[in-house]
Amino acid sequence: MNIAFLDTPIEFLKGIGPQRAEALQKELGIFTYKDLLTHYPFRYIDRTHFQSVKEVTEDSAYYQLRGHIVEINFVGEKRARRLVAKFRDSSGIIELVWFQGAKWMAEKLKANTEYIVYGKVTSFMGRFNMAHPDIDVVTPELLANQSTFQSVYNSTEKLKYKNLDSDGLRKSLRILTLQLNEHTIRETLTEPIIKDFGLLSRLDALRYIHFPESKQMLEKARFRLKFEELFYVQLKLLKSNLVRHQSIQGFVFNRVGEAFNTFYNQHLPFQLTNAQKRVVKEIRVDMGSGRQMSRLVQGDVGSGKTLVALLSMLLAIDNGFQACLMAPTEILAKQHFVTIAELLAPMGINVALLTGSSKTKERKILHDELQSGAIHILVGTHALIEDTVIFKNLGMVVIDEQHRFGVAQRGKMHKKNIQPPHVLIMTATPIPRTLAMTLYGDLDTSVIDELPPGRKPITTMHFMEGQRLRLIGFMKEQIALGRQVYVVYPLIQESEKMDYQNLQNGYDALLDDFKPPQYQISIVHGKLKPAEKEFEMQRFIKKETQIMVATTVIEVGVNIPNASVMVIESAERFGLSQLHQLRGRVGRGADKSYCVLMTSYKLGADSKLRMETMVRTNDGFEISEVDLKLRGPGDLDGTQQSGVIDLKIADLAQDGQILQLARSSAQAVLNEDPELAASENQLLVHQLQVQGKSRSSWSKIG
Ligand code: ADP
Ligand code: MG
Repeated sequence: MNIAFLDTPIEFLKGIGPQRAEALQKELGIFTYKDLLTHYPFRYIDRTHFQSVKEVTEDSAYYQLRGHIVEINFVGEKRARRLVAKFRDSSGIIELVWFQGAKWMAEKLKANTEYIVYGKVTSFMGRFNMAHPDIDVVTPELLANQSTFQSVYNSTEKLKYKNLDSDGLRKSLRILTLQLNEHTIRETLTEPIIKDFGLLSRLDALRYIHFPESKQMLEKARFRLKFEELFYVQLKLLKSNLVRHQSIQGFVFNRVGEAFNTFYNQHLPFQLTNAQKRVVKEIRVDMGSGRQMSRLVQGDVGSGKTLVALLSMLLAIDNGFQACLMAPTEILAKQHFVTIAELLAPMGINVALLTGSSKTKERKILHDELQSGAIHILVGTHALIEDTVIFKNLGMVVIDEQHRFGVAQRGKMHKKNIQPPHVLIMTATPIPRTLAMTLYGDLDTSVIDELPPGRKPITTMHFMEGQRLRLIGFMKEQIALGRQVYVVYPLIQESEKMDYQNLQNGYDALLDDFKPPQYQISIVHGKLKPAEKEFEMQRFIKKETQIMVATTVIEVGVNIPNASVMVIESAERFGLSQLHQLRGRVGRGADKSYCVLMTSYKLGADSKLRMETMVRTNDGFEISEVDLKLRGPGDLDGTQQSGVIDLKIADLAQDGQILQLARSSAQAVLNEDPELAASENQLLVHQLQVQGKSRSSWSKIG
């Protein structure tokens, strides 16, 4: 009964009909009653409180006024033509202005009629006016229906022509909410949860979110709906984690054997940090437990994730399995390969590299050796997931700097065996807690919260264009000390051509200041052939060049300890995590390192905050939180493709506390009833199924 009601096609709602229904579908994806009900307001207007015209004193503020229109005129010519209505209350007069839809408005407005207007005022030549206000004729009905907070909805131009602007949508929602009752809206949370958290019923929450009678009711409605949304996300994630733990068998790596021990005791280049030790142990326990590991390792840039990955792969080898490590770029894959092959060289472990530019002949040999088991560790790019790459017995997969990979790619690795291999995912930079809980909530998590000893914090400076001479001087100083310098240019797809031009211009300008033969400059960007890239990288690695000019191809993971200065050009165009990631390319050796953020003078508030944050802190966890606040979860790396974050009302940047409550509540339910078998929990099971239809899931990967 209730399902049928919520699934009713929207065209059957009084006042909608087939044409508007079609527009609602196309414009807002509203197909059913339920879709309309969950088209939540994005803000509210306080409708009980009126100001007087005299009180209008603050530019750009919103005001609600009640009074009469006394005069209506068209003013100005052509494009400046506009409709101006003089609006008067007992305290004074203010002008209402319409630039668009002026003709239509002129027909609608009536002089000497009482109106309520609401809108933003702007000060123009010392006088205030209100452009395109919300405007309603005062009727007894309007006053009676005036809930304290009037909801405002997102709409579109096309819908406005069909009378489905915010007001139109509210009217439809009024009609719909009047039909809500205990039969049409069933409770979706169990009684104990509702009691524990003092939640409104779902029915009341849906009524009050659209038509709140007081601020308190609005807050309660919001809390209830956010809680519910986050609760189900978490329940689902925690449940699939549980299922994985219980039912997906993993290879049992219970031997800590020769490979691991020999390396650990004889070839480890340095003492592990305590954090590295702890995480390796967590991984060991996990892989020895008989269940399949799906573990996320978070660690700041430079915290030594590679070594943790390597030790894990040695465990696989000790237990008779192959391992692979997948990196997001060719440069990074190559670098991992060199590092690992070097470290393992004395031990007779066979490490191979596979990237997009591996030659056909090499590939053939490599394929054979993989299938025979002659190769123990395969390092590579996404070339690893091609169907032609077949392992003899793949037991462990490491995915480095994971945010660059789509979910589908990760899933494919699992098909390389009948039984899924253990999976270790390593993030490039820390992820905010709320996001980690939501994106990776079904993975087990390890955190490397300690940097190797002896790292000197990187000093970050923010220079504006006018300080370029100072920058050049600083670079020369550092080069004279034997250091090397990166100069990085942004590259975004939309303006790629211009970006390359900037890069080229920057390179040419640098050549003026850093003349050969005293100075040599490498240049690396995405348009070079892999061999050319490699050549330029090598010159820099061998210290034949002192400066490397590059696009963000070097962004992820490159490790050249002697490079101690990172100059980021047009830094305002980079996101925070990218800036942090880039900065992490320096500070890897013993030398004092620097990061210089070059920007133009004109910076928006967000850009300013990004620069300030970078100058203030080196802590990736802290930076990730600021990033989330600034950009919102939808814009953070990796969240778009994941499709996991399609929250309708909760906001991960703001609702961390509710998320925490929802997660522990979901955890408590599963602790008591892991199978969700109890009769009172059947509604949770049902709800999971209903929601499961739309959401993609990590459990398909894990
Ligand atoms: P990330 O976590 O960013 O991937 P890497 O694994 O690339 O960091 O390590 C960064 C640098 O720190 C490398 O040069 C690595 O050799 C070094 N390193 C890693 N672990 C330690 C340690 N325990 N002590 C000293 N140096 C370490
Ligand atoms: Mg790394």
